[in-house]
Amino acid sequence: MNIAENIAQVYTNIQDACTRAHRDITTVRLIAVSKTHPPEAVIKATAAGVQHFGENRVEEAESKLPAVSALTDVSLHWHMVGHLQSRKAKDALTLFGTIHSVDSYKLAEKLSRLAVEHRRSIALLLETNVSGEASKYGFQAAGWEQDDVLRESLFDAWRQIAELPGIEVRGLMTMAPIVTDMEDTRPVFASLRRLRDAMQETQGIALPELSMGMTDDYPVAIEEGATMVRIGRAIFGERNMR
Ligand SMILES: *Cc1c(COP(=O)(O)O)cnc(C)c1O
Repeated sequence: MNIAENIAQVYTNIQDACTRAHRDITTVRLIAVSKTHPPEAVIKATAAGVQHFGENRVEEAESKLPAVSALTDVSLHWHMVGHLQSRKAKDALTLFGTIHSVDSYKLAEKLSRLAVEHRRSIALLLETNVSGEASKYGFQAAGWEQDDVLRESLFDAWRQIAELPGIEVRGLMTMAPIVTDMEDTRPVFASLRRLRDAMQETQGIALPELSMGMTDDYPVAIEEGATMVRIGRAIFGERNMR
């Protein structure tokens, strides 16, 4: 298990996917998801050039981020990728630069209120469930292309969120179902991209970021337009939990 070698391999795969999709590699940001792994693993990844890291629990980040800061002078950008409970919003705001898991107007409104109060600005992504899997968090968007009522109510909610002060809505995030053939994730990623395009075109709100793709499916996500890939196991190895 060599973190630097793993990162080099991931970058090679990102480059290959970009080549297939006629994209420039600079349009794809690698986020190394360090959940369950110690600060020393994060430091090894920074030595290999990674500056963006993801965590999925506020409690874990609360102890890990200061420990990482104590070990490096490199300034890192932390992404909250896991489900965020409303009562943890304040802590998340101080720990993270970007929150990928905004899944309700209520949570966005709370983050906005706290951001204004603490004179901070925070980047947000709207987590969206386009596959319809019951186990997934996110704004429910399965069938959005056929269902005008669903689409309009989604766009209304997102427009209201985009107008809130103190927060900057940067795009959409999704998680594909777990499948045996990576190719089966393509319709999910393509749907999120079309939904983003539809939102931009009809509401005039820029949503440049598409956070999609994990260890098992990031090449397909990049082919379908991902601008952020969230990769854990391919960099840090298998997790014992979660
Ligand atoms: C754990 C996690 C990842 C990374 O998953 P891997 O399969 O280890 O690459 C990405 N996104 C979210 C939301 C996660 O919780």
